[in-house]
Amino acid sequence: GWLAGQVAVITGAASGIGRAVAERYLEEGALGVVCVDADRAGLDELAREHGSRVEPVIGDVRDHAVHEQAVERALASYGGLDVLVGNAGLFDFRRPLRGYTASALAATMDELFAVNLRGYLYAAMAAREALEAAGGCMIFTASVASFHAGGGGVLYTMGKHAVVGLVRQLALELAPRVRVNGVGPGGTLTGLRGTQTLGHGGRQIDADPRAFDERVSAAVPLAFAQRPRDHAGLYVLLASRDNARAVTGEIFMSDGGVAARSI
Ligand code: NAD
Repeated sequence: GWLAGQVAVITGAASGIGRAVAERYLEEGALGVVCVDADRAGLDELAREHGSRVEPVIGDVRDHAVHEQAVERALASYGGLDVLVGNAGLFDFRRPLRGYTASALAATMDELFAVNLRGYLYAAMAAREALEAAGGCMIFTASVASFHAGGGGVLYTMGKHAVVGLVRQLALELAPRVRVNGVGPGGTLTGLRGTQTLGHGGRQIDADPRAFDERVSAAVPLAFAQRPRDHAGLYVLLASRDNARAVTGEIFMSDGGVAARSI
């Protein structure tokens, strides 16, 4: 496998894209995957399926201590850390600016950015030293909304654009020892949830899979709504020392060809 003997920490690994990446990493020969998520049931299921090659860490990515715990677990259980995948995130269900009061905007912004951005930065902070020691890499889940409007509302789109800045800046700061890249999925059938602040803590992006599929199919040249598994290979490629040694500061798009379409 392309990741033989490697050790990864993956946030948001209980479900969706993070889970597909965890499973692909194990198929590619990873020694172990530390899976960070707030969803205990999802992590338990993953750990049951994969035994000692999965270390679950239950917690909230808004807390720095959770990331420290994940890195410690990687070192203690598997003897090192090669890859950090920052992935846990929330959606704004495409709410436009006119749909907010000033106080709802502030509260939603705090919650969404704390998970989607501070969560990534905390993960990077906690993993940096171990990754420098190993000559490892970081991969962050960006989005079609990192480069285009309309995939999210104003807060989600702003936040995913910011992931591009995070990737580029950290790629520079952490070179030459650590590569930092992103993967940008398009509309993907997952259980992606919204913010508590907007009352969307239980709402899921795939609640109506057929409507979602139709909307994404109509919008993208490749004409299908993606599945988590469709993106996982890019996370493997970017983590591979043999195949991506010269790649840093890049976002690999995996969105059905949104940028290929003109009027
Ligand atoms: P998902 O809900 O299936 O997976 C996200 C996981 O993150 C869940 O298991 C959830 O429990 C966890 N999580 C959320 N908030 C957390 C917190 N505060 N602390 C700990 N864990 C938390 O959704 P997904 O679509 O697989 O999302 C993964 C990433 O992909 C997100 O960054 C999302 O923005 C991005 N993305 C998704 C799509 C899409 O259409 N689904 C498109 C582009 C990008």
